[in-house]
Formats: sequence, structure tokens, C-alpha cells
Amino acid sequence: MKLVFATNNQHKLSEAQEILGRKVEVVSLDRLGCHEEIPETADTLSGNSLQKARYIFDKYHVNCFADDTGLEVSALDGAPGVYSARYAGHDGLHPTPADNRKKLLQEMRGVTDRSARFRTVVTLIIDGEVQQVDGIVNGSIATEEHGTQGFGYDSLFIPEGYTETFAELGEEVKNKISHRARAMQALARLLQL
Ligand code: IMP
Repeated sequence: MKLVFATNNQHKLSEAQEILGRKVEVVSLDRLGCHEEIPETADTLSGNSLQKARYIFDKYHVNCFADDTGLEVSALDGAPGVYSARYAGHDGLHPTPADNRKKLLQEMRGVTDRSARFRTVVTLIIDGEVQQVDGIVNGSIATEEHGTQGFGYDSLFIPEGYTETFAELGEEVKNKISHRARAMQALARLLQL
């Protein structure tokens, strides 16, 4: 079975292919011939993930899935959540990941409840039928940055059961327990692979 994954991120494509296995051929947007920017204007992770999958299904008539991820911090009522990539942005300007981490540390200054989670929502559309699954990794926000690996908020996120951040733990550990890996495993179960 061929499934378009609404991304061109090579890391995400390889991770999905590895978890979904040989019965599924994961196809990128580039290979589909989709080069335009797909709208992501919803205000929830599930809304954005649905919007992306629907766009591909409606325009290209192919079975597909899309993901959307956010860091949800309890003391911030779930922020930055769906706005994780744009957290420190203002006036339509795109912040850097370092700007976003800096803002998160500022917002969390003096806050004792540091619990947080990464959540990925995946929307699958097969022959027009929409299904959603998610993957969660619980953890906490460090008081300062640690580690140099990974991306985004990795240097601030300590997964439950560990004392180091994702950026210190590195890819091998992260890929086993991450929100995205768990969402892809849930997708594999949905596809009965
Ligand atoms: P996306 O939906 O995968 O594009 O993720 C949205 C934003 O969430 C990214 O721009 C990052 O800021 C953050 N994010 C997603 N996944 C991770 C992760 O595995 N580690 C750190 N930050 C992440």
C-alpha cells in the first residue's frame, strides 16, 4: 500500500517508513508533486493535522496521513501547544527555535510545576475515511538548556523516567520513546500492520 505522508522532512519520512514497515510505501510531498505550502490555520493539533491530510486527499485523491506536534506545558495551560513553532513570534515574524526556548524559560521562571508533554496527532485518510491517533511522551521542563543534539525544545525537555534532556539523551533513546515514534506506532496499529 502507498501512503503519502504530508511532509518533506527526511527524518520524519525515514522514521515513519521504519515503523510502518515493508507493507507500506511512505511517499513524500515532493514525490507526489506537491510543492505548495499546505495551510495550517487551525487552533488545535488535531485540527491542523486534519487540515493537512484533507488538503492532500481532496487535491490529489490519494490515501495519506499528516502529523502535527506541540509541546504542552501544564503550568502554561497547554501552551505553546499548537503554536510551538511560532511561540516567540510577533508581527508575523518567524522566531528561531532558540527564541522559542528563551521565551519558554522566561515564562517558566519561578514556576514549580514543570510538568509537560510532547504530543503528536496523526490524521489518516483512506478512501475518504478519516481516523486520528496520537502519541504522547510525558516529562518536565528543565530550568536551563542542556545538551546539543536534536532540535526545537529538545534541550529543555526531560522525558519521564530520565534525568537528562532529549538533547543529551540523543536520537537512539529519543526515537524509542518520542511522541512521534509513539504516534507512528499507533498508526501502524490502526493500519493493522
Ligand atoms: P511539527 O508539527 O512537527 O512541525 O512540530 C511543531 C513544533 O514543535 C516544532 O517546530 C518544534 O518547535 C516543536 N517540536 C516538534 N517535535 C519536537 C521534538 O521532537 N523535539 C523538540 N521540539 C519539537
